[in-house]
Amino acid sequence: MIEIIKKEDCTGCHACYNVCPKECITMEHDVEGFLYPNINTKKCIGCNLCEKICPIIHQEKVDNNPLAYGCHNKNEEIRSQSTSGGIFTLIAEHVINSGGIVFGAEFDENYNVRHNSADDILGIEKFRGAKYVQSKIGDTYKQVKQLLKEDKMVLFTGTPCQIGGLKSYLKKDYCNLICQDIICHGVPSQYVWQHYKNLISKDRNIKKINFRDKSTGWKKYSLKLEFIGGRSYEEVGNENAYIKGFIKNLYLRPSCYECAYKTLNRQSDITLADFWGVEGILPNLDDNKGTSLIFINSDKGKFLFDKIKNDVVYENVHIEKSIVFNPCAIKSCIYNKKRDLFMDNYKDNNFTDFIYELTEDNPNSKLFIFIKKFMFEIKSITKIILYSSK
Ligand SMILES: Cc1cc2nc3c(=O)[nH]c(=O)nc-3n(C[C@H](O)[C@H](O)[C@H](O)COP(=O)(O)OP(=O)(O)OC[C@H]3O[C@@H](n4cnc5c(N)ncnc54)[C@H](O)[C@@H]3O)c2cc1C
Ligand code: SF4
Ligand code: SF4
Ligand code: SF4
Repeated sequence: MIEIIKKEDCTGCHACYNVCPKECITMEHDVEGFLYPNINTKKCIGCNLCEKICPIIHQEKVDNNPLAYGCHNKNEEIRSQSTSGGIFTLIAEHVINSGGIVFGAEFDENYNVRHNSADDILGIEKFRGAKYVQSKIGDTYKQVKQLLKEDKMVLFTGTPCQIGGLKSYLKKDYCNLICQDIICHGVPSQYVWQHYKNLISKDRNIKKINFRDKSTGWKKYSLKLEFIGGRSYEEVGNENAYIKGFIKNLYLRPSCYECAYKTLNRQSDITLADFWGVEGILPNLDDNKGTSLIFINSDKGKFLFDKIKNDVVYENVHIEKSIVFNPCAIKSCIYNKKRDLFMDNYKDNNFTDFIYELTEDNPNSKLFIFIKKFMFEIKSITKIILYSSK
């Protein structure tokens, strides 16, 4: 029976929860707001399937030869509603139009994030846009297995650890399954998100949340909450406390600091990401409206990309060069030493002030902004020179 000794060793993928034949595993929040398996030992028959299925205990190594492209959807409306270049929607539309089912992350009625499925074009809208909170998988792996057995085409999208969990649960490869993951910074706690969301919305009813609103541009995106009745709250990402705490790794899941999925050899068929640094690497694709970085990891991924190519503006790029400004592709986030201090005290403090205090940024300091920009430019130029000479 599965036993979690170190929190870093559980991604919350739900594979054990889905596999238990006696349904004696429940996924429960710890004090920080992350889900972990909890076993009802009275019902457990000791079959050990949960331990055998855990993708962290039994790690899968992939040997492939991924290709990388910079690209964006030709449909400007979809692109403007998407996080980067709107490629997810094109892939999902192809699967739906082929009679398939799409799984992805949506907001629930309380604006927590969970996985769900869609079988029509309208249904995939709810998955559009990155949500910077860990998504709850629930019993979606079981649903996927059932659909695959019925010969349905299935597209499963999620973080690399969620794809790892699904693949481990399924045990074998299905030709009718396509998996799409992301380059993943890490996932914030559901409790921290709920706390922040409630502070911002007060008693107003939320109509829509966009973590990556592009009205101020893709590179200087905003977090936007729209309320029923017409009001809205909007703040640019590098000033918004929630985004700042996320980027500075103050409230990520413990497994994200020691992520087992940081590699260019991925279990998914396709990987999607923001093409950070596109202006220096593929300048023709830089228009500040959102450019995707896409890895094609398998023959299935290649087949799918060929199907959507006519609707995409794209250029190929050397994979190592493509991730120069996206270290999260291959490296875990650095553990923030103030994380515990934050987690223990955020409810008793002014959220924004506390984040600024712990990240040591004074947003009003012109010198601070100047130094940050200067350092960024120097770093960018050095990296481009280094990689261009490869
Ligand atoms: C938590 C998180 C961290 C990320 N970190 C990075 C990073 O460090 N570097 C980088 O380049 N890109 C990162 N991305 C990916 C990037 O922001 C875009 O999601 C990706 O490029 C797809 O964009 P799109 O325009 O094609 O489609 P969009 O429509 O914007 O993408 C939607 C897709 O994201 C999935 N998704 C949304 N929220 C979640 C969630 N909470 N959990 C699992 N899946 C989710 C949906 O199911 C759907 O497949 C991250 C995304 C998330 C959700
Ligand atoms: S299967 Fe997933 S949720 Fe279960 S213990 Fe392993 S990593 Fe955690
Ligand atoms: S050992 Fe078997 S019955 Fe017990 S929790 Fe694990 S999967 Fe369920
Ligand atoms: S950083 Fe790694 S462990 Fe954390 S959500 Fe992403 S893939 Fe999973």
